[in-house]
Parts: sequence; structure tokens; C-alpha cells
Amino acid sequence: MVSQRIIGDHTVYLCDECGFGYSNPETAQECQDYCSTHNACSFEITVNAIYRPQNSRAV
Ligand SMILES: [Zn+2]
Repeated sequence: MVSQRIIGDHTVYLCDECGFGYSNPETAQECQDYCSTHNACSFEITVNAIYRPQNSRAV
């Protein structure tokens, strides 16, 4: 299950693994599934992120 957070005027869905935030829960879930499976982020998914954590493991 992904986290949900209000940032500014937006509801952001956060991947619990990498902390990247997405505008819809499906993408956040996709990221979380990928992150937990591969122990790394998929650039093709994170490129859609609308929120990036300051202390990200993802590069
Ligand atoms: Zn992730």
C-alpha cells in the first residue's frame, strides 16, 4: 500500500520504498512494486514523479 500525502494543493501518492511521489496511486504502486522487486527505481517510472524526496536513494 502506498502512502498518501497532501503537498500544496495536490494529493501525492508516495512510493514507500524510494519516496518518490506520483499524481495517481496506480503509478505509485507500480513504482513500489518495481522498487521492492529490484531494490532500485525504474527511470521510466520515476520520470513521471511529481515529487522527489530530498534524501533519495534513487539517482
Ligand atoms: Zn519507488
